[in-house]
Amino acid sequence: MLTPMPRSKFYRVQCPECGNEQTVFSNVASVVKCSICGKDLALPTGGKTKILSDKVKEIS
Ligand SMILES: [Zn+2]
Repeated sequence: MLTPMPRSKFYRVQCPECGNEQTVFSNVASVVKCSICGKDLALPTGGKTKILSDKVKEIS
């Protein structure tokens, strides 16, 4: 069961291109790119971050 949290979260996102894992904030203000290959990993939506990878894990 997921508890709704007003606080921001972090996600562990794996780049689908190169497999690099990096931490992404749940409310990013700008596009997050992979630090290795430069692929877009997350987009700002004005609210919750849109993660562009299937391999994402929430960090509590
Ligand atoms: Zn990458």
